[in-house]
Amino acid sequence: MNSIRLALEERENNLHPRAARSCNSSRTKPEQRSPVRTEFQRDRDRILHSKAFRRLKHKTQVFFSPEGDHFRTRLTHTLEVSQIARTIARALNINEDLSEAVALGHDLGHTPFGHLGETILDQLSETGFRHNEQSLRVVDLLENEGLGLNLTVEVRDGIAGHSKGRGPIMPLPGRGKLPQTLEGQVVRIADIIAYVNHDLDDAIRAGLITLEDIPAAARLLLGDTYARRIDAIVLDVIAATRACDLEKIAVSEPVCEEMMNLRTFLYKKVYLRSESELQRKQIENLLRTLYHHLLNYPPQGLAAYPAGDSLQRRIVDYIAGMTDRFALHLFNRLVMPEFLL
Ligand code: MG
Repeated sequence: MNSIRLALEERENNLHPRAARSCNSSRTKPEQRSPVRTEFQRDRDRILHSKAFRRLKHKTQVFFSPEGDHFRTRLTHTLEVSQIARTIARALNINEDLSEAVALGHDLGHTPFGHLGETILDQLSETGFRHNEQSLRVVDLLENEGLGLNLTVEVRDGIAGHSKGRGPIMPLPGRGKLPQTLEGQVVRIADIIAYVNHDLDDAIRAGLITLEDIPAAARLLLGDTYARRIDAIVLDVIAATRACDLEKIAVSEPVCEEMMNLRTFLYKKVYLRSESELQRKQIENLLRTLYHHLLNYPPQGLAAYPAGDSLQRRIVDYIAGMTDRFALHLFNRLVMPEFLL
């Protein structure tokens, strides 16, 4: 049976010389290889079957998930990133399986209630909180009942290096952490292609903005619809990357500039306004109450791992892992007298 995996590995020899090859990959704890899947395919499947992946379904992307069935959640965002990353990777003849694995795992550490949840956990945690670091913590230490998923070096590196915050999409060498592999860099750019476009789409759906509010220069260069914009950026990334013979994953200057402009527009008009002041206060109160309550009364089911970590750290892990609705239910149970529930 091993011949099946060997044939798949052999096929990877036809990829671009700069592509990652699964046969060269390694894991922290060495394992026997699968007879029918490459190492990157195996990582993709481990992530897909993880509990943290299933919970993405009920975690907010930007608009709180209970509000409407057509808004993106963290799960559908992840799937869109994966699809865009695979399209680019396949077109560039690099390792699509690696890009897919990184994309599916990149947001596993996201908190409930989107970036608001992340900001509040960052304030509560003694050591700060960043979702990309947490994603790595999930796959290394928390999943699989504390055993971790023992992923390959390349997938771990891609997950850790996907996040841009408000920084440059592709930092210059030496500035900011860029994934080592082209496949990881593809996910970094696919993430922003996905969120810039679907967050605009959802903001229109929510009535926060209209199509005409989107900066005219971006509409002119990238197109007037969600589909056209994604297509324009994806084609630009493929052309610019081929033009430098895959020295790095690249995007042309004008397209990069308009993507940054769209991101700035989203920060101003959407991210800081997607919930009302009242909702913001309610969620902050909810997360702070949960944190302090759980610290005083650690729940029975609180994981005993990672070994040696403080109770505070494990409570942050516990809250970060919650879905929006689990956090809401738990909060209700804590503050409401039982006879009212
Ligand atoms: Mg993301």
